[in-house]
Amino acid sequence: MSFAFHILGTSSSGNCSLLEAGGVRVMLDAGFQGPRLEASLQSLGLQAAAVDAVLITHEHADHCVGLAALLRRHPSLKVFANRETARRIQATLKVRPDWQLFETGSTFEFRGLKVTSIPVPHDAADPVGYAVDCPGEDGAAGRRVTWLTDLGHVTDVVRHHAALADVLVLESHYDAEMLDLSKRPPHLKQRIRGRHGHLSNHAARDLLAGLKEWRATELCLGHLRKECNRTVLVEEAMREVRETRPDLRVNVFDPLEERPLTLT
Ligand SMILES: [Zn+2]
Ligand SMILES: [Zn+2]
Repeated sequence: MSFAFHILGTSSSGNCSLLEAGGVRVMLDAGFQGPRLEASLQSLGLQAAAVDAVLITHEHADHCVGLAALLRRHPSLKVFANRETARRIQATLKVRPDWQLFETGSTFEFRGLKVTSIPVPHDAADPVGYAVDCPGEDGAAGRRVTWLTDLGHVTDVVRHHAALADVLVLESHYDAEMLDLSKRPPHLKQRIRGRHGHLSNHAARDLLAGLKEWRATELCLGHLRKECNRTVLVEEAMREVRETRPDLRVNVFDPLEERPLTLT
């Protein structure tokens, strides 16, 4: 099994990816409803039982709503989360998964993959991003896949991990003007733009533009909110970043027309 990172979807209506590396299949969040999750796996020719483990970022439904369906098909599935996140999710489940608990900020091994959990500021119990170090194959260098969505502002830890990623998935949640003009209730707008909400297009751009050195070859901008963002606005915000890094491949995930993407 050679390296493949399948981003099955990332938007406010659901986040789910599958990383295949070093002979292991790890799902990153299971935020699709059961039928969509199964259909996504089937499109890769896979069934739930082919997934070795799931890494959960936090307990919001757009990151874990599909866990119950996945566990019905694959009861012995290992589910990685920190204690608080596991506690919140367990309260919504009828079965008890094989929880693999970790301390936020720690690094652990899973069958040859080195996984680091990254604390992020977001209005959940103990939200994290992940960096997964995948071993190289056939003499090729290993690659680090880093997932950073659902964060209200950028911290030094987030900056540090963004710079070290080879494949970086970064949140670009909303356009500030579209959010202002949208018909969302004021408390929801406040929540989205708060210090523990989500990153705007400009905040994502500022994070990248502020990095002195970063080595990513693939940048995926995801978790767009369809009510207050468009891919063209993300592209526009990232123009300066593209100019300084012409070698960078940039993918923006359209929340209006969701399509999976496979990076190899
Ligand atoms: Zn989310
Ligand atoms: Zn969230």
